[in-house]
Amino acid sequence: MKYHNITKDDMLNGDGLRVVLWVAGCSHYCEGCQNPVTWDPNDGAEFGEEQKQEIFHELDQSYVSGITFSGGDPLYSTNEPVILALAKEIRGKYPDKTIWLYTGFDWDYVRQREIAQYIDVLVDGEYIQALRDTQLHWRGSSNQNVIDVPRSLAAGEMILHGDDIAVGKQYGECPSCDTDKVERASQAR
Ligand code: SF4
Repeated sequence: MKYHNITKDDMLNGDGLRVVLWVAGCSHYCEGCQNPVTWDPNDGAEFGEEQKQEIFHELDQSYVSGITFSGGDPLYSTNEPVILALAKEIRGKYPDKTIWLYTGFDWDYVRQREIAQYIDVLVDGEYIQALRDTQLHWRGSSNQNVIDVPRSLAAGEMILHGDDIAVGKQYGECPSCDTDKVERASQAR
């Protein structure tokens, strides 16, 4: 698998401060894609042990909430087995960290894949420029969904991530929001 970047302390691609792996390869070719440079699966650098350890080093930090897989498409055919193995390893090694994944495939496809067992939050669907909405949280167009994967699999229907936020605020705490971790991270600097 080829990748383009590993970004750290990212606050734009999921809850809290995250490490983000930007993989190469996408077969969706969405009009208006912000990262067309990532479409070619043969572009970028080889992802290997050194890069994996770089990610683990980030996840070792208490203020890091988890990892986000993005791209490109982490579920591009040749990426999916590598991402699956990595997600399994992260789940075993860091059970308290969350795993987010952005893909151009939709929920009905992803929910049947083994990788679904290892994702906390899925942002699904192709980017549709006509449905672009800059007010949306974590997604670019309104057809996309930010999905709470464990709850959706258990319920047998799509449950959106963030449903818990309203409940959390009602009771003075927010189970889906890592604001305290962000504050701790800024104090640590
Ligand atoms: S799925 Fe994402 S990376 Fe792929 S073309 Fe669409 S917007 Fe770009």
